[in-house]
Amino acid sequence: MAPSVAIIGAGFGGLCMAIQLERVGIRSYTVFEKAGDLGGTWRDNSYPGAGCDIPSHLYSYSFEKYASWTRRYPEQPEILGYLAHCADKYDVRGKIRFGTEVRRAVFGGSGWQVTTSAGGEERTEAFDVVVMGVGQLNRPQLPDISGMEEFEGVSFHSARWNHDHDLTGRRVAVIGNGSSAAQFIPRIAEQVEHLHVFQRTPNWVIPKPDATFGPLAKLAFHFVPGLQRAYREWIYRYAEGTLYPALAQGWSVNLLKQRALRHLEAQVPDPALRARLTPDYPPGCKRVVIDSTFYPALTRPNVSLVTDGIVRITPKGVETADGLHEVDTIVYATGFKSTEFLAPMEVVGREGRTLEERWEGGAEAYLGISVPGFPNLFMLYGPNTNLGHNSIIFMIECQVNHIMSCLPHLAGSGPIEVRPAAMAAWRRQLDAAMARMVWGGGCQSWYKTADGRVTNNWPGPTTLYRRLTARPPRPAYRVVGSG
Ligand code: NAP
Repeated sequence: MAPSVAIIGAGFGGLCMAIQLERVGIRSYTVFEKAGDLGGTWRDNSYPGAGCDIPSHLYSYSFEKYASWTRRYPEQPEILGYLAHCADKYDVRGKIRFGTEVRRAVFGGSGWQVTTSAGGEERTEAFDVVVMGVGQLNRPQLPDISGMEEFEGVSFHSARWNHDHDLTGRRVAVIGNGSSAAQFIPRIAEQVEHLHVFQRTPNWVIPKPDATFGPLAKLAFHFVPGLQRAYREWIYRYAEGTLYPALAQGWSVNLLKQRALRHLEAQVPDPALRARLTPDYPPGCKRVVIDSTFYPALTRPNVSLVTDGIVRITPKGVETADGLHEVDTIVYATGFKSTEFLAPMEVVGREGRTLEERWEGGAEAYLGISVPGFPNLFMLYGPNTNLGHNSIIFMIECQVNHIMSCLPHLAGSGPIEVRPAAMAAWRRQLDAAMARMVWGGGCQSWYKTADGRVTNNWPGPTTLYRRLTARPPRPAYRVVGSG
């Protein structure tokens, strides 16, 4: 009999899992989604200019080619449309329970008791398998700046954009200058009276070579056999062949640095402004921003870059060492609680131990997917599976394939879990690979915990990750209760 599967989250990860189950005829699954619609991060991040800086021919499922992309780097509505198209085409929408938040998952006997909350009512159901598809960037991080609650204007986080608040003619502060801010600053700069951009640390920025696909290109993608696949492969190999070695501090470090410096020089004529935008840490240590409109926006007369540290928020604006910047709107583009994997869900494993307890020193999982003591529990986009250079959808597909290869082992034999020895070996391999990556020293980033452990990123080539996840699950896994 097919196992019953609880999939948590209806974003790229959860939908991929559901689709692959459908494709092999397993319909005994339920997708729990706390929001009222699918899409995950592509539903939540609807700020002006939201889009993906990885071309969509690669940032999409390998099994679902799409000839309708209107440009190389489509914006959020198109990506959301693609996900809706996939959900409908593979008939998974009817299996999604919207408005249903998973509060708790407790392992007992041979499976999981999953407690959900919907419309104020709690309900507990049994499943053989739980697949977590909640992502790494799902909970906005507001900064801890004194006086925030006293601000008299309107404030919101970039991932919870207040579309009812018209920014036309307003004086606006943006706190943060990461990938999200870099995408919406150019859009709102055209609208507002004045924009103050508060930058704590400059980012390395490289150009985004966007292009539209006209009717001919779309027809070619639709009808020319192999064209989409070849284009996808080219983008993938380029990212893997040039960007990855830079992050591994290999041959392309200087190439990346020079590309970013040339971009800065070409777009920012003022040497004083350029100096304030030049990072003093190695490129890639923080996520490189890929954008061609951010720097020009900073050179507009109605935009000021503020690099003095923020002292406090007052009722009237943002105070720095050089004085008060009076504004009526504050946008917090301050990122996400990226290292608190799966929070605030409570996940209780085989020996009554929670994942939170197990991860006290930082989250970790075998292949980023499985944790000893938590049988039949699998993660998508889990610890150490984020990328700074390529498509995360590639990684998600590797994880789904791995989970699919585990499912036949459950039939008849009982729950399986990863062996502690396999986890320990994995940890050693990760640590060794991590030592050569650029993320460790020189900067603070959402890739790591406060004490500097990189819990989010995958330190190898993605080709290696595909090979490792394609291995048969045994001998790394064992049936619970066996040796
Ligand atoms: P982020 O990269 O974590 O950036 C947060 C920004 O807020 C940083 O500039 C940070 O400064 C600043 N900040 C945080 N706390 C602050 C404080 N107390 N005072 C002043 N500044 C503060 O967040 P994000 O821009 O939302 O992006 C997160 C990730 O989402 C990206 O790295 C990327 O992986 C993904 N993303 C991808 C795309 C895409 O096109 N694929 C688009 C958007 C986002 P410091 O640098 O000094 O910490």
